[in-house]
Amino acid sequence: MLKRKISFVTYTIIITALILVVGISCLLVIQNNLMKDDMNLMAYKKLTQEVAQIRRYIVYDSQKKPHIDDGFYDREDDPDSNEQIYVFLQGNDGEILDGEVPEEYADNPDISIRDLMHIDAGKVKYFAVVRQGRTDKEPLKKTSKYKICVMVSVRDIESNYSELLYKSYCVIGIVLIAFVIYAFALRKLIAVPMGSLNRSIDKSVDNLDFTENLEYDGPFKELDMLTDANNNLYRKVHQELERQAEFNANVSHELRTPVAVMHAQCQLSREIAEKNGDEEMLESIEVFERQTSRMKGLIEQLLQMSVMDNENAVIAVEDVDLLDAVESVCDDVEYICKKNLKFTYDLKPTMVKANMNHIVIVVNNLMSNAVKYSNDGGNIHVSCGVKNDSYFISVRDEGRGMDKSTKEKIFESFYRGEPDRSAEGFGLGLSQVMQIARYYGGIVDVDSEPGKGSLFTFKIPVNAE
Ligand code: ADP
Repeated sequence: MLKRKISFVTYTIIITALILVVGISCLLVIQNNLMKDDMNLMAYKKLTQEVAQIRRYIVYDSQKKPHIDDGFYDREDDPDSNEQIYVFLQGNDGEILDGEVPEEYADNPDISIRDLMHIDAGKVKYFAVVRQGRTDKEPLKKTSKYKICVMVSVRDIESNYSELLYKSYCVIGIVLIAFVIYAFALRKLIAVPMGSLNRSIDKSVDNLDFTENLEYDGPFKELDMLTDANNNLYRKVHQELERQAEFNANVSHELRTPVAVMHAQCQLSREIAEKNGDEEMLESIEVFERQTSRMKGLIEQLLQMSVMDNENAVIAVEDVDLLDAVESVCDDVEYICKKNLKFTYDLKPTMVKANMNHIVIVVNNLMSNAVKYSNDGGNIHVSCGVKNDSYFISVRDEGRGMDKSTKEKIFESFYRGEPDRSAEGFGLGLSQVMQIARYYGGIVDVDSEPGKGSLFTFKIPVNAE
């Protein structure tokens, strides 16, 4: 399996770009080859026509030396043609008898009779045709005393194809522009909706809120199917969470009365035992009373949590000053703390629209944990205020801290760290704190290192509804 993942859109764009590059390169190579063959044919036709023309204008002087008659140069030029064709007569000893030799080629003019040939004269390349020297009236002989050489530069012939090349480059440009538009469209039609789909799913998972209906109104069937499948999953998870919350609420309700009766009976029994001076009975009643108060606490906590799970429950909100609320809970915790701990505070007056009880539960749970998991001599620092558009309450301790795997589970209901199973608590405190944070659209951040301590920050957005 691939370790590093690559975006589907990037992958498609890269593969399409590769196909385009290979396709365009192949087309250019084919076009180049066709052009080369065509250029050879065109050059051959022009040069052989020129040879035929010149034969009509060759005259011999008194010493039988051939010359080109002026009439040849006075001919009317083809107005469409912008090629310069060089024509010269060369004796078999290499002497130029008449005509014009290209400048670059002047030092090296000895060429043998050939059909079409390519001559590389430094920077300039030529097509050349060399034929036996004779006039059009003279019959074809086996040998001749001179040659007719006709040359034209390759660049001049090439210029006939400039329009074709221009059109080809225009087409390549249009294809590249279409490709860029295609890449942007792909990004907009696939990457953007998938990104927002992912963000919605992440948000729902973070807030444990599966009531949102994901939407996709783009043109792709697959993304539509994915959105539908996610919405189905959301519905199922939401139903399951509701069922679980209902179960918790029912069980807590059913247990509340008998446990309260048991607790009241314990108190009554304790009074009777105290009156009778029955020490043994008193001891066992105290154990019984401790356990029933624990159960009462658990049931209260579950009931509080089920109220928040209930969408129809009305939860009163008021203007709460975080400073007052935090200070009063911290005073209580400090008062009953049996450990030797130093408490420091940095509390700013901060008015929040919230349920007072929620804030008390949050501070109480975070503070109790900080005390519970700190060692003697440690410091606990509590602060509250506004930062980055969020109200916050943070509690830092220098206790035993947590490793990464513990950190991932602490917000689950009934989760308790391995060494804490026998200690006081049910593993509900932090999940309740998180539930309250989510209720206000916030979150609880945790930063912790084993052996160094932990920092819990309860945050709710300033503009929460
Ligand atoms: P409990 O009632 O067991 O404290 P919580 O939900 O409050 O339940 O905490 C869950 C677990 O998270 C605890 O059992 C403990 O392992 C870990 N934990 C919570 N707060 C701290 C802290 N301040 N330092 C270290 N571990 C902590």
